Amino acid sequence: MQKGNINVQAENIFPIIKKFLYSEQEIFLRELISNAVDATQKLKVLSSAGEYKGELNSLKVEVLLDEKKKTITVRDSGIGMTAEEVDKYINQIAFSGAEEFVNKFKNIDDASQIIGHFGLGFYSSFMVADKVQIISRSYKEDDEKNAVQWECDGSPQYTLKKAKRKERGTDIILHISKDAEEYLNEFKILDLLKKYCKFLPVDIEFGTEKESVKIEGEKDDKGNDKYETIEKPRIINNTKPAWKIKPSELKEDDYQKFYRELYPYSYEEPLFQIHLNVDYPFNLTGILYFPKLKDKIEIQKNKIQLYCNQVYVTDNVEGIVPDFLTLLHGVLDSPDIPLNVSRSFLQNDSNVKKISSHISKKVSDKLDEIYKENREEFEKKWDNIKVFIQYGMISDDKFYERAEKYCLFKNTEGKYFTFEEYKNQVEKTQTDKNKKVVFLYANNTIEQHVYVKNAKERGYDVLIFDNVIDPHFINMLEMKLKDTRFVRVDADIIDKLIEKEDSLPSKLTDEQKEKIKPVIEKFALKDKYHVIFESMSENEQPMIITQPEFMRRMKDMSALGGGGMGFMGGMPEMFNLVVNTNHPLIVEVVEIQEEEKKEKLVEQMIDLALLSQNMLKGEKLSEFIKRSLGFIGK
Ligand code: ADP
Repeated sequence: MQKGNINVQAENIFPIIKKFLYSEQEIFLRELISNAVDATQKLKVLSSAGEYKGELNSLKVEVLLDEKKKTITVRDSGIGMTAEEVDKYINQIAFSGAEEFVNKFKNIDDASQIIGHFGLGFYSSFMVADKVQIISRSYKEDDEKNAVQWECDGSPQYTLKKAKRKERGTDIILHISKDAEEYLNEFKILDLLKKYCKFLPVDIEFGTEKESVKIEGEKDDKGNDKYETIEKPRIINNTKPAWKIKPSELKEDDYQKFYRELYPYSYEEPLFQIHLNVDYPFNLTGILYFPKLKDKIEIQKNKIQLYCNQVYVTDNVEGIVPDFLTLLHGVLDSPDIPLNVSRSFLQNDSNVKKISSHISKKVSDKLDEIYKENREEFEKKWDNIKVFIQYGMISDDKFYERAEKYCLFKNTEGKYFTFEEYKNQVEKTQTDKNKKVVFLYANNTIEQHVYVKNAKERGYDVLIFDNVIDPHFINMLEMKLKDTRFVRVDADIIDKLIEKEDSLPSKLTDEQKEKIKPVIEKFALKDKYHVIFESMSENEQPMIITQPEFMRRMKDMSALGGGGMGFMGGMPEMFNLVVNTNHPLIVEVVEIQEEEKKEKLVEQMIDLALLSQNMLKGEKLSEFIKRSLGFIGK
């Protein structure tokens, strides 16, 4: 028997492993199973290389739980280790057998599937165990008495001795410590296996499950098939997940099925997907699904699962994919993402940067493809993907440049236009006297109906911008698109929004305006409404409420928490109360001598203006209704 000290620089590495190595204790199982899978894959590689001539049989990894003995065992029938190898790879922590192996067999395809890359993986078992045993028999060893047993109780001392083992392979036996007894529970282990091992490339077996199977050739009295319940080993994983299959071998249906497999509890279907498959200059596979984003009150992130050679790593892909892509669903798998380093380091890693911009490009290529191949289909999906595209265009200049061609505007009639198409469409009618093309928009066609109608009567077109990201998007567009302005239809009277050279003469004299103004201000509070006179068409409303574009935008932006000014939140809202000096009613009211009648009419007109902006509420609304009924009676 050999005794010795584990070769580490630090006095005692175990307290460090326990406390700092991994923030999540539970990953010990992932690490041990990854090693077992590696050992199995290595055997396959050796077999293809002709170095191993024995049987492979059914290669699998077993997880065994013994609640009485308080052990968890991870068993594989992979290459195993000789005493020298245990000494080298386990006792001298600095060596990684994985790296060495891959270097030696780098020309064999399967060799790239070796996972061993988390480093110190095996020692993570000491996070939950106070004693760990390895019993291993190398594929090179013919004699069952030449197996090896290693043992360590969490101190730097280990023991290494000869042991007996019938089959080739390795058992890692964890004697679970008192403070980690939660892991001695079947459901806990099952959960962990489902989380980390769902798509590992070698069968992972844990316990048994019952299945009902048809008994061939037997029928019951009524002539129905007979079934029996059998108990069979429970396999945790799907060893060939869709992302590892060539896109040409998959049908649309397979992608949908895989989506279900990933998100068993999601009831929604994704819109479409992108299958990533890169092997140069970095290795990346995966499938990204576009979810339906429309009407989502809370946009979900953390739906993309990150794998490393089919081992689940995390569902936090921040820093690895561009922020706007974290809205997608699906999986990414890359051995080239350095996962055992901090997130802030990740963002500066050149490989990660390349991966991130590659994904961004692939996504915009796919969108471009759908747009070009089937515009109608693209338009159908638009409402569901627009948030995502806009977010991308705002946050990523490169993405903007690519998406500019297929990003769509939608107008109040439900028609879609590209930027260029839209500009061509409205340029003639909606260019103002400063040579700027004015894009009118509404964010609620019901509430802003009167304004939309007014604009349309002028022959203008109105766009819809109705989601949370739109204020930001509009700001950005104004910077990008030359000589264009965006204004909401209710930001001013329509002739001011798109100002042309000639304005109508006013039917009210300045003197008359001065006389009526205090009457109006009596009802429209000065600190909320700013009374202004405009000579509009007599067909328009006598009074109209507007809110200057810049004011509203600042408010919108600060509500979103970005770019706006903090103090706007606390500032009272201001509106314009625009009086149409050419409207017959206004002209008439000015001349009314009887004060009470005059006031009543003015109040009624103000309320009507408020009503058409959906601003007449509560007590004011009740009063208005009562007053109106009074008018009807007359
Ligand atoms: P890594 O997997 O990153 O190399 P580990 O500490 O997890 O780091 O493992 C160290 C080495 O021990 C492995 O590279 C491998 O050579 C060997 N090893 C660990 N577990 C097994 C196993 N189940 N079968 C064979 N070899 C193993």
